[in-house]
Amino acid sequence: MIAQPFDQDPPDDEDFPAGDDGTAETEIVVICPHCGEANELSLDAGGGSLQEYVEDCAVCCRPWRVTVRYDAAGSAEVFTEPLED
Ligand SMILES: [Zn+2]
Repeated sequence: MIAQPFDQDPPDDEDFPAGDDGTAETEIVVICPHCGEANELSLDAGGGSLQEYVEDCAVCCRPWRVTVRYDAAGSAEVFTEPLED
């Protein structure tokens, strides 16, 4: 008898599972790249495993670009970079 290889779907960006089962992070604290104050962001895991958008700082009102990246386990990594207006 030949052993079957373990059938496991690799994670892939088109079919992002963490957004559907409630395990993905939905809130995260980031530091404003302009003023250094902490901002709490709401994340939308249903938007995909890689998201980019512009957010204004709640403290100094200056804009930054937010990059959100989810890993297959639903943990979010968030990067911010300053935008000039
Ligand atoms: Zn700020």
